[in-house]
Amino acid sequence: MSGDDLFCRIARKEIPADVVLETDDVLAFRDVNPQAPSHVLVIPKEHLASLEEVAEGHGGLLAALVGAVNEVARKEGVAGGFRVVTNIGRTAGQSVDHLHLHVLGGRNMGWPPG
Ligand code: 5GP
Repeated sequence: MSGDDLFCRIARKEIPADVVLETDDVLAFRDVNPQAPSHVLVIPKEHLASLEEVAEGHGGLLAALVGAVNEVARKEGVAGGFRVVTNIGRTAGQSVDHLHLHVLGGRNMGWPPG
């Protein structure tokens, strides 16, 4: 939890967010500009710029992130039908340089994504 990006600041509670789930390592909060009836961002509290920075030694953190995604889906009532997205780099649409998993549900999803 060492960076100064927006999501590090949310993780440190310097900026308010609508928190759905919190553990020692992970925070989940509602996206301010939801793209589905349920749109939650799951982040590690530790600063990682994107999924590309995940390395050996992050196995426990990855398991915690996936566990949080599944717990969020259950809490949001979308378990069994939801989408998980992570954008890496500006070309893919990443706008906040802190690893985050979008958990989207509550509507039918198209494919391919835009
Ligand atoms: P990205 O574009 O990096 O994949 O996703 C960043 C997400 O963060 C966007 O969906 C955007 O709506 C969301 N976001 C940006 N600023 C804030 C904020 O201050 N609070 C919350 N809760 N979400 C934000």
